[in-house]
Amino acid sequence: MIETTFKVEPKSRNDLRKTARIIREKLKIKTLFFPIVELLDSLTILDPNFNYAVEEDCEFAPGEHAYWEPVERTMHIRESVYNGAYEGKGRDRMTIAHEFGHYILHTDQYPKMCRSISSSSIRAFESSEWQAKAFAAELLIPADIIDSNCSPEEIAEQCGVSLEAAIFQLKHIK
Ligand SMILES: [Zn+2]
Repeated sequence: MIETTFKVEPKSRNDLRKTARIIREKLKIKTLFFPIVELLDSLTILDPNFNYAVEEDCEFAPGEHAYWEPVERTMHIRESVYNGAYEGKGRDRMTIAHEFGHYILHTDQYPKMCRSISSSSIRAFESSEWQAKAFAAELLIPADIIDSNCSPEEIAEQCGVSLEAAIFQLKHIK
């Protein structure tokens, strides 16, 4: 992920877990598997200022999978990532959830963020990248719904995430 880290309003993992829970409640999503791809189309209806664009891979920098553009309020997604997420690939689903996190958490803070690029002094809980990463994991692997006795393999399967993400998130739940 090649994205600039901005200093944003501090949020703890618990804050982000709560935000993810509220979103699930508002959207009435009770299943472990969060329909993140379907959410994109719903969002364009729910929020007239939300847009997303699936673009050719050549329009992205190497290693860049997607990005949220807060001025035009558009999520730009690599075609291969969108297709992968549509097919249920965990890593690609997490990429979209990460960008959704920037939209939910940071869009209104953008003007302030631009004045604060002094990366060396940013602590994790006030870093836009840390927050989006933690939020995405909390959204796709909800702590209060999953059975923490399940193996990482089972969690990965049930939630539609990579094994790596399931292992990482289980560490924050147990
Ligand atoms: Zn990011």
